[in-house]
Amino acid sequence: MPIPFIDLQAQRRRLGQPLEDAILKVVRSGAWVMGPEIAELEKKLAAFGRAPHVLSCGNGTEALMLPLMAYGIGPGDAVFCPSFTFAATAEVMPLVGATPVFVDIDPETYNLDPASLQAAIELVKREARLTPRAIIAVDLFGQPADYPALRRIADKHGLKLIADSAQGFGCTLNGEHPLNWADVATTSFFPSKPLGAYGDAGAVFSKDARFHDLLISLRVHGQGVPSDAESQAFSHDPKYLNLRIGMNARMDTLQAAVLLQKLTIFEDEIAARNRVADRYAQGLSDLVTTPKVIDGGVSIWAQYTIETDDRDGLAAHLKTQEIPSAVYYPIPIHRQAVYAAYPTAPDGLPVTDAKADRVISLPMHPYLTEDDQDAVIGAIRSFVKRNG
Ligand SMILES: *Cc1c(COP(=O)(O)O)cnc(C)c1O
Repeated sequence: MPIPFIDLQAQRRRLGQPLEDAILKVVRSGAWVMGPEIAELEKKLAAFGRAPHVLSCGNGTEALMLPLMAYGIGPGDAVFCPSFTFAATAEVMPLVGATPVFVDIDPETYNLDPASLQAAIELVKREARLTPRAIIAVDLFGQPADYPALRRIADKHGLKLIADSAQGFGCTLNGEHPLNWADVATTSFFPSKPLGAYGDAGAVFSKDARFHDLLISLRVHGQGVPSDAESQAFSHDPKYLNLRIGMNARMDTLQAAVLLQKLTIFEDEIAARNRVADRYAQGLSDLVTTPKVIDGGVSIWAQYTIETDDRDGLAAHLKTQEIPSAVYYPIPIHRQAVYAAYPTAPDGLPVTDAKADRVISLPMHPYLTEDDQDAVIGAIRSFVKRNG
């Protein structure tokens, strides 16, 4: 049996009959859109993430786009984000007409470098062509960004701080979730994320009731919500009062039912992921660069990413051993042709560019057996020793 990169079938077997019963219950109920599981999931996610408000939505991309819409960010506005991330982080800016400004990363954590961010904001202010509005930090590979530093910079320049925690829902810094510092945090429940559905799904975590109401409205075509005076005066279903330009960004009830089951074991899975990560570090840190988590941080290990000089050689070697690996990300977003015209931090993104040639992610999931992990470690050790 080849070693899987992520073993979602082992998790499915663990969840067993209750998971299948929960899915069938939704099928039989007929409440396929906005069924009762949606509100139940939002409540449980709020408790898990210690968030005052949670809005479920269709995927992690919508989860990022909805807050930009709620803040009225659009043409002429600048939003600062890393380039060493999944495309969705940067894509939502052009989708609302705004401009992404790419910022470099810290060489050890791969997350936003506060110094590069500060320089990028000052450059945009000096040029006075765009209005700085927000920062999107990414909790890359599952570990929290440097939120205390990012919050200070956001406050200094009057910017909103958005946490793209698509890979990091459940991570903490000094015992706190990213929302402790960020104005809003988002996540994705794409199947391969640490907390994954059986299809696309996402969520937005926020602190302010009026802002959450705005998200509810935007999620369903700008419908009237109780905090709108117009809605209070309207005598029909506020669904048919369209007060703003919104979209359809609902999560399917089926996905909520799956996530409710998975949430019951998520804490345990995070602990298992940390055991796997510790074991990788023990087996590999003398030969390759193993991940470093920010001081006070707890990663949920969406990916276990190492660095080595001959990354492509290692990937090819692992393939011959039937060991899967992946490169996140081979082309930083600012190097993609369609994003090349957007601004970057004044000194460019040298760390981002260097990392793209060095990183490789290894099999990582809560059900990785010690035998399989030893096979991965052994294959890497033999390759590096032979070539080093
Ligand atoms: C996966 C991901 C997203 C997008 O989530 P989808 O559910 O696929 O839309 C956004 N940001 C980051 C960092 C991601 O890894």
